[in-house]
Amino acid sequence: MREDRLERVRGRLSELGIDLLVLPPGEDFFYLAGFSPMRDERACFMLVSSERIALLVPRLNADQVARHLDVPVFTYDDAEGPAGALRDALRVVPQAVVAVGDDLRADHLLLLQEELPGTRFVVASTVLAPLRMRKDPDELDALRRSAATADAGVLGAVQACWPGATERDVATRAAQAIHRAGAALFTLVASGPHSAFPHHETTDRALQRGEPVLLDVGARVDGYCSDITRMVFLGEPTARYREIHGVVEEAVRAAHGAIRPGVPIAEVDRAARRVIAQAGYADRFVHRTGHGLGLSPHEPPSVTHTNLLPLEEGMVFTVEPGIYLPGEFGVRLEEVVVVHAHGPEILSRLPRDPIVVP
Ligand code: ZN
Ligand code: ZN
Ligand code: ZN
Repeated sequence: MREDRLERVRGRLSELGIDLLVLPPGEDFFYLAGFSPMRDERACFMLVSSERIALLVPRLNADQVARHLDVPVFTYDDAEGPAGALRDALRVVPQAVVAVGDDLRADHLLLLQEELPGTRFVVASTVLAPLRMRKDPDELDALRRSAATADAGVLGAVQACWPGATERDVATRAAQAIHRAGAALFTLVASGPHSAFPHHETTDRALQRGEPVLLDVGARVDGYCSDITRMVFLGEPTARYREIHGVVEEAVRAAHGAIRPGVPIAEVDRAARRVIAQAGYADRFVHRTGHGLGLSPHEPPSVTHTNLLPLEEGMVFTVEPGIYLPGEFGVRLEEVVVVHAHGPEILSRLPRDPIVVP
């Protein structure tokens, strides 16, 4: 158990008047325990109150969990089901207000609601998001290693970019390059007109000379995620392409220029959006400027023009403006940045210029 984090979580529980925190296997669990049990349809909870901590674990995983955590474990077997063990685990804790993991399964929430009929339920992110948003030095190191791994994925993908190769070929090469240092989280390859869809699903379309390829790649290393987008062009980039790429690059720089502690996050989004609007493409920038990342690939803070939360040192989020021209092409450039007093730290080492494949 990460005792320092547990203390801070308990501080939040008392601040917010929450009696009990119920976390399924996943990122919040990992944040507190340094590991997370396998996640399946069986109910498995970490139960944290100001005084106690306990685990509800299906019997088949009990020995494994006990190896990581020295806390009381309530087990059940597949035939009997979790209700009785859950009742025992809940007996000793107050439960007027219970925070449950945001991605707790609906059937497990219904199980809890049946056991705790008078309880008010809230989401666990109210407790954990402010803590997880500010990364400690160990977390920043893991994020740097993860970013380096994603960079390697982009470089691997570029080597597979030639006319006739399919998007899937390119994605496979990215994943292979990432696997040498971590796990591939996603490898999104969008060629030509497909790049106009911000979340295109990689297909068997063959790359063609005279068009761009959007590479959006993420890895997970020691639990921590990375997320980078770079643009490749097969052949000499057209004037139209260079214009759009130049606007997106300027938007990235404007966003970076707005990043310092104390500034509302909204300013980062506004800075990027202003550049794209002035170039005449306001309605073609169809998503927020970025999202936090850490143990989850998307987590708070959300970089929107409505988020007035002030930036703080140690926050980590993406800056990823894009311009999407349906039927033509799209350009997105994505960096992961860390907020420091002296300005943003950009985790990727790769330049953002179009990567030209002759
Ligand atoms: Zn995304
Ligand atoms: Zn991305
Ligand atoms: Zn992203």
